[in-house]
Amino acid sequence: MPEKKIIITLDGWSGCGKSTLAKAMAKALGYVFVDSGAMYRAITLYFIRNQVDIADSVAIEKALAQIQLQFIFDSAKGSSDILMNGENVEDLIREMDVASRVSEVAAIARVRQFAVQQQQRLGEKKGIVMDGRDIGTVVFPQAELKIFMTADKEIRVQRRLKEFKEKNSALTAEMIRQNLEQRDYLDSNRAESPLRQAKDARVLDNSSLSPEQQLTLAMDWVREIIG
Ligand code: C5P
Repeated sequence: MPEKKIIITLDGWSGCGKSTLAKAMAKALGYVFVDSGAMYRAITLYFIRNQVDIADSVAIEKALAQIQLQFIFDSAKGSSDILMNGENVEDLIREMDVASRVSEVAAIARVRQFAVQQQQRLGEKKGIVMDGRDIGTVVFPQAELKIFMTADKEIRVQRRLKEFKEKNSALTAEMIRQNLEQRDYLDSNRAESPLRQAKDARVLDNSSLSPEQQLTLAMDWVREIIG
């Protein structure tokens, strides 16, 4: 009998390693991994490039009608890149100009509706691990395993700083701290699908866990469910 396929959601604060864990779980299970934040970031990049006025609902509607998002698996990297209208924008969307605008774009109800519809379609066959802010509460409230991730803020800042340094970025710890604080505030205080811990979510604080240790813990939860 084929193994039961489930939906796994990972929500939580900015920069606490959701995508790292989601990717590792998807690899271990042979599941699809979807970084829902990459969708909001790609939409934000389009809005910046095309100077879309986020107070103008007609302009937003027009812009969304022009945006096609797609994930492509890069076997060399072992993970997916996001394409916006056929262009690989995976690296560009990680830059600070997008990071500093994404939360205001993601707060727009129509933008969320656009992204959530596509996310739900990706999960129709189950066998998916998706990370974000509202995945366990809004996108897949029926998910079999919901994880809410958290980590000490200074640890999150230092981890992000290390990632940026590896890419030769000149960003400082202070700039990263400000961005994480701004996004956490906007993401958890917006009217539309704010960041919340689902009632049935399991909390994973990875402040003092290595990537391997957090994977072991999360995979134990998966085995409890799929047997
Ligand atoms: O996950 P990541 O940090 O890349 O997400 C970037 C931003 O996209 C978040 O700060 C949030 O504003 C938005 N987002 C969201 N809902 C999701 C995923 C991301 O609002 N499901």
